[in-house]
Amino acid sequence: MDIQKIVAELKNCPCGRAHTVDIRAVEIGSNMTSRTGEILEREGFPQNILLVADDNTLGVSEGILDSLNAHGFTMKKLIYSDLKLARAEQVAEIEALSADVDGILSVGTGSLNDICRAAARRVGREFAIFATAPSMDGFGSDTAPILRNNFKETWPGVQPSVIIADTGILARSPVELKAAGLGDMIAKYVAITDWRVSKILTGEYFCENIERLTLDAVNKCVSLAEKLPTEDEEAAGAVMEALVISGIAMKFAGCSRPASGAEHMVSHFLECYKCVNGIWPDYHGKKVGVASLLISNAYRRIVQTVEKVEAGVDPLDVDKLLSLFDPAFHDEIRALNTAPITDIVDPQALNERWQDIRQTVLHYIPEQSVLLAAMRAAGGITDIEGIHVSPELMRDALHGHAYMRHRIYLSRLLPMMGMDIMDFVQI
Ligand SMILES: [Zn+2]
Ligand SMILES: [Zn+2]
Repeated sequence: MDIQKIVAELKNCPCGRAHTVDIRAVEIGSNMTSRTGEILEREGFPQNILLVADDNTLGVSEGILDSLNAHGFTMKKLIYSDLKLARAEQVAEIEALSADVDGILSVGTGSLNDICRAAARRVGREFAIFATAPSMDGFGSDTAPILRNNFKETWPGVQPSVIIADTGILARSPVELKAAGLGDMIAKYVAITDWRVSKILTGEYFCENIERLTLDAVNKCVSLAEKLPTEDEEAAGAVMEALVISGIAMKFAGCSRPASGAEHMVSHFLECYKCVNGIWPDYHGKKVGVASLLISNAYRRIVQTVEKVEAGVDPLDVDKLLSLFDPAFHDEIRALNTAPITDIVDPQALNERWQDIRQTVLHYIPEQSVLLAAMRAAGGITDIEGIHVSPELMRDALHGHAYMRHRIYLSRLLPMMGMDIMDFVQI
């Protein structure tokens, strides 16, 4: 994947923002394990490194240590037995081990990347990723979700300078993880729609080039969905590339708008609930995939059913809202909604631009049958039982998600139009 070419094509973008990245190289292809040392050396990655992995991820990356040794890298290693959650304790552990190294190489995906990304920022070291599964779009991110006392916090991190992925390893990764990657990608249809809705109503910044980059990536993934359960290297590589592109799109936009809409907030709600109750929150892309199916179906049904709206002032009742959340989150939710985001939405504008919004939803969100078929073909989870969520918890998530960030989502505007999202979903 030629990242410099993508950056060059977006030079002088009409949206007015400079689209830059810190990532120097992305290498996704066959037999990359044996080329890891050569690629990192070519990219000028420091030679004295801390390698962080777990038994699983290092086990599947056979040959990576030889490759690094052959190219003169000296390594300290931190190998976990099976790392599923990114906790503050692990960030501290990596920080302590990083004192006498110049770079951190994370061999793995998800939490293994997040703890390294956050630690690299705290100690001012370079960071690179050797990815072992295409399961979520956080590879290129410069922030990391880290658990502290069972609270998910967003920590600053560094973007990796180099991302390497061997398509053979990606293709042999569990179907559950590959399908989770597709789940995180179909979210982009909702994300782009929510972003466009906000642009229509509030004039929020928007970039059509970033939109095109994102949609091309997700469309390609959807077209290859049925090959994901097999060990097809092209399909696994395409999903990996799409996930990296989606991360880069966020960096280009300077916000998560191109990658995350109401569906990610539903997933975030579930994750917060599970973490604070000490429950394993499940893979990010798996939850996001199910939430994307629910929200995209609701959005299409809303605009197909409601031809005309008569919006009024947002009937927000903060105490009622708080009842949806664990007391641990009340201060945060109250602060986010003291001056609600709907203050910047003119009800009259919502009435007048409803036809624009309807067209946007129908244009950008594929029919439910298409998304369901893709997720099923990929071997992915498509219902709430599969993510261990009860109908009651999902109902609270659908009512509460849009209040967890100070941002416009179509779902956040429904109360202004006298609608309840539960009238448009089936769970
Ligand atoms: Zn732009
Ligand atoms: Zn995501």
